[in-house]
Amino acid sequence: MLRRTLQAISAVLFLALPATAAEFPDRTITLIVPYAAGGPTDVVARLLGESMGRDLHQNIVVENVTGAGGTLGSTRVAQARPDGYTILLHHINMATTPTLYRRLPYDPVNAFEPVGLVTPVPMTILGRRDLPANTFAELVEWLRANGERANLADAGLGAASQLCGTLLQHSIGTRVTTVPFRGTAPAMQELLAGRVDVLCDQTTQTLEYIRNGSVKVFAVTTPERLSVLPDVPTTAEGGMPSVQVMIWHGLYAPHATPRPVVERLSRALQAALRDPRIIQRFADMGTVPEPQDRATPDAHKAFWAAEIDRWRPILQAAGQYAD
Ligand code: ASP
Repeated sequence: MLRRTLQAISAVLFLALPATAAEFPDRTITLIVPYAAGGPTDVVARLLGESMGRDLHQNIVVENVTGAGGTLGSTRVAQARPDGYTILLHHINMATTPTLYRRLPYDPVNAFEPVGLVTPVPMTILGRRDLPANTFAELVEWLRANGERANLADAGLGAASQLCGTLLQHSIGTRVTTVPFRGTAPAMQELLAGRVDVLCDQTTQTLEYIRNGSVKVFAVTTPERLSVLPDVPTTAEGGMPSVQVMIWHGLYAPHATPRPVVERLSRALQAALRDPRIIQRFADMGTVPEPQDRATPDAHKAFWAAEIDRWRPILQAAGQYAD
């Protein structure tokens, strides 16, 4: 009887005590992806989760919490227990939502502990296969001529695709009809079916469809051409240097997660970014891992703050073209 009582007390005490970094992690970690499964952010998260899990000797399961331009997934992590067992992989959305959203269920900056930067991913501007335009200049002409009769798919206010679409509309001075999805995986299906006209999306999803010719590609959003798509011009070559955007990804824990836990996650992130399998898969998808010294909480924090400042005036100027 006494033994059972002591066992029960120690079990309660064990549960009540916060895990130390030495013990972390002692169970499965949930990695929240704020967009649909099979899409470009999800692909990065699943590769990363698998590799980080090896370093941490625990499983990392990916959960897609989709909707509201990626802010529902962020909300889930912002409101999770700050113990490192619920973390978020998100992208440039984290730098645009503080400007784009007047009210959110979480503080878009202070609700998180940055863990480290993951990978910068270029975007491609695509059209349905039977779109009557073959060059970026012809696409611009077609969008201007069609205005709101033209459809541009995106993943909702705050998504990378929506940011790229906003820059494009602002540059050409024409508003088109935007069609939001829970991620660009479903948006891509609509483009393949020819039910939407245009989609701007990360190479982590689009290369395969560009190469098999099931979509048209008009431009890449980087200052230089990409080695994986050497024949595709940049938006700057097409006369629109302001449609330039790189989709950086970062890993986040909820605010007040103990620093040793954040640092353990960061070390696992760094190990994953050195993993030859990740390096190869990223290269196949037109991207590279962030350097080790950027996969740290401090570098991530500083870069994130600078990105919020950089995008604010651009988004404000392009505001009338946002959703
Ligand atoms: N590419 C999407 C975006 O526009 C997100 C996704 O589905 O991964 O932000």
